Amino acid sequence: MLEVRINELAEEFGVHRNTIRNWIKAGILPAQKGPGRRYLLKWADYVALCERFGKRPRRLPETAKEEESKKSPYRLLPPSTPLYPDPSWADICLTCGACASACPISGVDGLDPRKVVRMAALGMDEELINSDWAWKCSLCAKCEESCPMKVEIVQLICRIRSLRPRDKIPGPLVRGITTCLEKGNNLGIPKEDFLALLKYLARELAEECPGFEVPIDVHGARLLVTINSKEPFAEPESLKYWWKIFYAVKESWTISSEYWEGVNWGFFSGNEEAMRAIVGRLVDNLHRLNCEALLLPESGHAYLATRLVLEQWFPEALNKFKIYSVFDLLMEYLNKGLLVLDAKRHPGLTTYHDSCNYGRRSLKILGRGYFEEGRIITQLCCPDFVDMQPNRNGNYCCGAGGGAWSSPYKAERIFHGRIKARQIKETQAKRVIVTCHQCRDQIKFFLNKEYELGVEVKYLWELVADSLVFDPS
Ligand code: SF4
Ligand code: SF4
Repeated sequence: MLEVRINELAEEFGVHRNTIRNWIKAGILPAQKGPGRRYLLKWADYVALCERFGKRPRRLPETAKEEESKKSPYRLLPPSTPLYPDPSWADICLTCGACASACPISGVDGLDPRKVVRMAALGMDEELINSDWAWKCSLCAKCEESCPMKVEIVQLICRIRSLRPRDKIPGPLVRGITTCLEKGNNLGIPKEDFLALLKYLARELAEECPGFEVPIDVHGARLLVTINSKEPFAEPESLKYWWKIFYAVKESWTISSEYWEGVNWGFFSGNEEAMRAIVGRLVDNLHRLNCEALLLPESGHAYLATRLVLEQWFPEALNKFKIYSVFDLLMEYLNKGLLVLDAKRHPGLTTYHDSCNYGRRSLKILGRGYFEEGRIITQLCCPDFVDMQPNRNGNYCCGAGGGAWSSPYKAERIFHGRIKARQIKETQAKRVIVTCHQCRDQIKFFLNKEYELGVEVKYLWELVADSLVFDPS
């Protein structure tokens, strides 16, 4: 056991003292009250916290020091290797291979999570950093879910990514981040073009929703809404799904004319500074526009990345502003009786795809996974419903997560999705509901074609918008 003080931990992890207290209260950090103002923390829990924040443990308990002194002289462990954070860590791997069996891309180009763990334990950092494995992995955490020893495989892969020289990162991730930092969004869409497009789309929607206007920079609006730059760039019509919902429920909302990008590619490339800068701009917008809440409707990674950055660097903002996932907001509207949905507009068998980031990874990292909400909403619109097997925490990735959608490894990504395709086929559903842009594009455009699925693929909010019963007035 370690004896720790709240303020020491806060300083060590760069968060506010109240954040540490909240973690303890919520059980995210399982510490018990100790003598004086100290808390007692198990060594393994302390290491897990360090893992989560990508930090090397500063402390060594007596037992760990003893273990260190008993190390075999034959041990191949360079103590300073950045991929080897703790003496007890990789040694807990049983080499059982459960992770390799669960990983949908295991075996492709020699990628195998068990091998990655062993190589890290043996100090083969250069080989891991120079290989493309970390970039072919979708960070889906299916391997971790299967691991009997709870080895932090995804954290390890993220660390491998973060150590890759920036000019050697495959695909457009670095370019997207640079453009976002310089121009405010990943695709560098100029402000005038963006605003002109929003106004044009708003005029179109006003034909169906009389009086509709897109609220830009509205001070005092309740909800600030972020946007995935892919939408104005390639699929502007899809912006109207949320707008129609806001119109029907009479939401007070706004879009910022600057720094509206909700996507955060720093999360995929291990660039913490970029993650922090992108989320910091959202926080600035919340303050500037005096909003109460933030909606992140882009995808699971955007939600998870923003929550993590807020917890670590902007705890005061997390206390002040409500952060909505798409599920939180739609369920709030339903529970308040604001949404009326027609269950007859989407006949035919429908299934639901669990996003890894909203589900399995949110459950592990934030202590809450969104599994039931999406199913409840889907079934209100599509009563003829069937689940894929396995589902929820055990669901298979579509293959496009973790930045794989933007990577140059298209063939591997489509191969990765073959298990998802099989799951969909086995349900015999004619429609798949998704909650993430990458999942939607991978299933709709690639798995559909490659595996001849013939399914309609809809966002959850698109389904809701198309099922809305409201009186345009
Ligand atoms: S499942 Fe866990 S214990 Fe088994 S080989 Fe993989 S990392 Fe090691
Ligand atoms: S693709 Fe998924 S299962 Fe495979 S190593 Fe990456 S996180 Fe683990």
